[in-house]
Amino acid sequence: MFDHIYQDSVEESGTHLRLALKQIARHQLPYNPICYAVWYEYATGRNEALNLDIKTLEERNTQIGYDTILKFFRSYIADEQSQLAEIKTTEFKTILGEITRHLGSSGRQIDKNGANVESFSGRLVNENTAEEVRKISKGILSETKSIIHQSNSLKQEMDDTITEIDALKKELEGVKRAAKTDMLTGLLNRRGLDEAMARTLDYVNKNQIPLTIIIADIDHFKQVNDTHGHLIGDNVLRMLAKLLKEHIEAKDIAARFGGEEFILILPETALKEAFVLAEKIRLSLKGRRWINKNTGQPIGAITISLGVAEYQAGESLPDLIERADNALYQAKDTGRNKTVTELDIETA
Ligand code: GH3
Ligand code: MG
Ligand code: MG
Repeated sequence: MFDHIYQDSVEESGTHLRLALKQIARHQLPYNPICYAVWYEYATGRNEALNLDIKTLEERNTQIGYDTILKFFRSYIADEQSQLAEIKTTEFKTILGEITRHLGSSGRQIDKNGANVESFSGRLVNENTAEEVRKISKGILSETKSIIHQSNSLKQEMDDTITEIDALKKELEGVKRAAKTDMLTGLLNRRGLDEAMARTLDYVNKNQIPLTIIIADIDHFKQVNDTHGHLIGDNVLRMLAKLLKEHIEAKDIAARFGGEEFILILPETALKEAFVLAEKIRLSLKGRRWINKNTGQPIGAITISLGVAEYQAGESLPDLIERADNALYQAKDTGRNKTVTELDIETA
């Protein structure tokens, strides 16, 4: 599966190995294959999204725990869904190959019948006896029947194959969509975000229109989990995802950026408008009353902090995200439950 990516030389891989071991020790992680795979991948530097995630955590001096490593492993290294997508694509290619072979052989058979018909016709000359003509006509009739039979069965096979291809195509589309979707919230996941973002940046650059991003992170979410349990935590994540979707338009993108962190990509939106939207979302969430359905106990208000940054022509996605993330960090640092834009940072 990974043969196409791990092509480092012995020396290069040795360097990656040392760095990986150092990082595992630094974060006091177990020396198991999962940790090794993640840190090796990190050491190679080829996976921008993974390295950005790790860089962000390290800049905050966060110790990276095993849960996080598992999450990275799932989303960046062993994404089952994309492996499935790859398998389905191979299946698809196999079927196409079979059809081509089949068409070829049926075609050859029909060619042969055609040639026989021609040779029979060639034998028809003026001085044929009635008996000879009868024989030749019988021959032509039999070859023609064979052609009709061949093309009928070919048609049936084609119909069956088309039905099979249609089913496989649908399945493949489903799997591809699943590979880009966050299972819990139904929003785009990191992979989906990267793809959508590349398309959006292209569009924005070509048409020179503004683009702003909002990163939202739930406040003290760990406490919600600790107090009410993970399932309630999951419900909160789902509800917040729904709320975000309700607040954006078709041209906008909402994605789950990390555990309890979400990102909104807003083309045709300048910083000021995005700030207004962020505040609307924040206040709408803050005003919501949460109740634990199992116990009937109130959960108390759930709030989010938001960071907003506007795209500057030509900059890289990590740079843009970093500015929004700094704004978010400041929102957290100065009390949470607030929206901070990159402009607030410059004047801070
Ligand atoms: P802060 O206000 O600084 O953001 O504090 P926090 O507690 O929200 O942040 P922290 O990063 O310390 O904790 C994030 C928590 O999010 C920890 C983790 O258990 C939880 N989390 C991440 N993903 C999921 C998930 O899929 N489901 C649930 N229930 N919890 C999750
Ligand atoms: Mg949080
Ligand atoms: Mg967070």
